[in-house]
Amino acid sequence: MTRIETLAVHAGGEPDKETGALSPPIHLATTFQHGPAGERRAGYEYQREQNPTQDRLEAVLAAMEGGAAALAFASGMAAMNCLLESLPAGSHFLYPLDCYTGLRSLANEFLPERGLTGTAVDMADGDAVRAALQPATRLIWVETPSNPRLEVTDLSELSALARTHGALLAADNTFATPVLQRPLALGADVVMHSTTKYIGGHSDVMGGALVFARADDLHARVAHRRHVTGNILAPFSAWLILRGARSLPARLAWHCRNARALAECLAAHPAVEIVHYPGLASHRNHDVAARQMSDFGGMLSFQLKGGREAALRVAGALKLAINATSLGGPETLVEHRASVEGATPHSAQNLLRVSVGLEHPDDLLADFSQALDASAA
Ligand SMILES: *Cc1c(COP(=O)(O)O)cnc(C)c1O
Repeated sequence: MTRIETLAVHAGGEPDKETGALSPPIHLATTFQHGPAGERRAGYEYQREQNPTQDRLEAVLAAMEGGAAALAFASGMAAMNCLLESLPAGSHFLYPLDCYTGLRSLANEFLPERGLTGTAVDMADGDAVRAALQPATRLIWVETPSNPRLEVTDLSELSALARTHGALLAADNTFATPVLQRPLALGADVVMHSTTKYIGGHSDVMGGALVFARADDLHARVAHRRHVTGNILAPFSAWLILRGARSLPARLAWHCRNARALAECLAAHPAVEIVHYPGLASHRNHDVAARQMSDFGGMLSFQLKGGREAALRVAGALKLAINATSLGGPETLVEHRASVEGATPHSAQNLLRVSVGLEHPDDLLADFSQALDASAA
């Protein structure tokens, strides 16, 4: 059992031993009976440390990413923060210029209070990454494709660089999912997910995960930190994310098909300045994406010729696509990122991000075409 479609359906999916139930029990127990000297009956003691529903989710996540062990968290940010705070005080890390806004906030507002400093760098530029390395650099964080510009980073190149420097390579694989890209096989040490997105897949559950290449000291330290600091996933959330994972490969195929069709349609429209989608030959790092991804994903962004006003007009004229944040669910979502990024937005004012959903592609293309035509008229 090695193909991801099969792993997604079966990993962690043994029928319940007591009842034969195929849908796994949701174990809500906070505490588990043990012997007088704390002897565990089935390995469990207290829900904050570990529980059987979460174990099943961690099994399928580790299997799909090809990792030795996975840890589930209450959110993607909880997972990210737990890993970064596990670095020794005084550590320095690199993170991408184009990245999830929460990572930028951690690096600017919170981690420096813990004695951890980060430098933002263009991860697609190997020379820039090399130049930004410091003696204290202990971790390189990559996000590929990145939010919201869909920048693509060469994972093999960066893992070699990290190894030479004695640093860890951590990859946020939320946009690609293990269906399209397996960073551990390309040399990353840890993969992070917001399971809120494609893995949960239905816009109805929050979660995060870390998957480790090795069940080593790093994994043990992060597991201990999760246990003590309590960033744990609720069992019902674990169950929902587990259910989402079962259909992840099938859903991704549709997301990719729709996103490619929409990217090509947008790129051909006269009101559009540029489309950011790694599947387009015109993308800055299309060749790297084609090498390290099996398809190009369901996320794209595009910039309008008419600036902020045109972007807001198009977002407002869409009838099927919904103006909302987040991604990876069945419905197509559009977001003017600059409007939601706070006082000093990172994104261009004429940029719209699209999480391409599972609708029929002709309906999506018709919706974006009418919105662009209306805004250009
Ligand atoms: C959503 C997201 C996160 C944060 O995950 P939450 O589950 O919202 O905490 C991190 N990275 C990427 C790429 C994301 O899209």
